Amino acid sequence: MPHLFSSHRLRREARTVEAMIRRYCRDHHGATTEPCPDCRDLLAYAQQRLHHCPFQHRKTTCANCPVHCYKPAQRERIRTVMRHSGPRMLLSHPVLALLHLLDGLRRPRRKP
Ligand code: SF4
Ligand SMILES: [Zn+2]
Repeated sequence: MPHLFSSHRLRREARTVEAMIRRYCRDHHGATTEPCPDCRDLLAYAQQRLHHCPFQHRKTTCANCPVHCYKPAQRERIRTVMRHSGPRMLLSHPVLALLHLLDGLRRPRRKP
């Protein structure tokens, strides 16, 4: 859904979270091409949260966010995904992983 996002930054975040969920699904649910329905739901949820994020391109990473807009169940699921896929992204998607680490250093500001 890249057209949903207002900036290059958010489109990149959407690609990053998709790569992480795909990796998790491949390793835990045996997905070979498309993620399983549960992981597709989680991805759609994460993309919808990004779309409505009050910080938009001024956001930090969701893991470092002071608001954390996820519902508790989805928050726990995405944390599990990140714990698994985060370190593995350094090998499979080094540029996205590095940029994501840098995003985590930003101080978030709400969009005006
Ligand atoms: S968790 Fe924070 S940074 Fe992530 S989408 Fe929600 S409000 Fe934005
Ligand atoms: Zn899955």
